[in-house]
Amino acid sequence: AKPSACKLTDENFVRRILPERAAGSAKHQNGKVLIVAGSQGAAQSMMGAAIMSVRAALASGAGYVCAAVPESAFNLMHQAAPEAILISQDMTQIAEKIEWADAVAVGCGLGRSPEQMNFAAKLLSLPALQKKKTIIDADALFAIAELSLLDSLQLSDAILTPHVKELERLIRISAQEIESERLFYVKEFAKRYAFGLLLKGSPTLIAANEKLFLCNSGTAALATAGTGDVLSGLIVSFAAQGLSTADAAAAAAYIHGLAGSFAGKSVNRISATDVINSLVPVFNYLENP
Ligand code: AMP
Ligand code: MG
Repeated sequence: AKPSACKLTDENFVRRILPERAAGSAKHQNGKVLIVAGSQGAAQSMMGAAIMSVRAALASGAGYVCAAVPESAFNLMHQAAPEAILISQDMTQIAEKIEWADAVAVGCGLGRSPEQMNFAAKLLSLPALQKKKTIIDADALFAIAELSLLDSLQLSDAILTPHVKELERLIRISAQEIESERLFYVKEFAKRYAFGLLLKGSPTLIAANEKLFLCNSGTAALATAGTGDVLSGLIVSFAAQGLSTADAAAAAAYIHGLAGSFAGKSVNRISATDVINSLVPVFNYLENP
């Protein structure tokens, strides 16, 4: 899709599009989120990524959050995010939950083994996902690149959220070259594919639904493990609450940046958990100016 002129995201834009919580609304009307994330083995566990994205989705207004995680990690997940519903990473069960969900996020901490890549590939080819608002990040991007799936993805309302190294792997153009012409490569991507792209960094660029956004609210405080998983949780939450994938990504990137600044203040030494804990002050600032 050909993107329109580039729009700079700012506070007022975010205030205007932020989903409102209707008085008298019930939880099932406030966005049903499915997050397929996390892996746990004897040698390595990446459950932290799942926890970060689930917590961020819960902390940003989603009415329901369901996480598809390894059964061996159910206890851990319940302790880390007791509000979430859990299902196993069984393809049939996940397909049913996709039908239920208003938006889906796939990829954080899924793992990179051949089996885990195949799992991601199967997931991305589920018919239920074709028209669903879908956020694709991290190890799902790795699987798409390694298995050369980019040109065959049948996803009409998805957004891929790579950092520059992940985009390098996806489009096979060097990170250095992409960095020198970020806007150009984001636009080219948007023209070529039906799904959208959020290129992380400073600034973050978003092309989706024929829209183009530049977001420069981010800070170097965010250059730490887990912040990308927080961003995925925010995007899927806003998309489930009714925003288009483009608007959800733009609002999430802006709020993510602001939360990084609120958390970091002048010290810039924070963890991704601090970013999540800054969401309430950020929403308070935005919604009660
Ligand atoms: P990831 O690389 O997936 O963990 O995501 C990192 C997140 O932090 C993305 O949202 C980036 O845009 C953001 N980020 C990382 N480094 C910076 C930076 N130096 N300035 C602004 N944002 C950053
Ligand atoms: Mg990441």
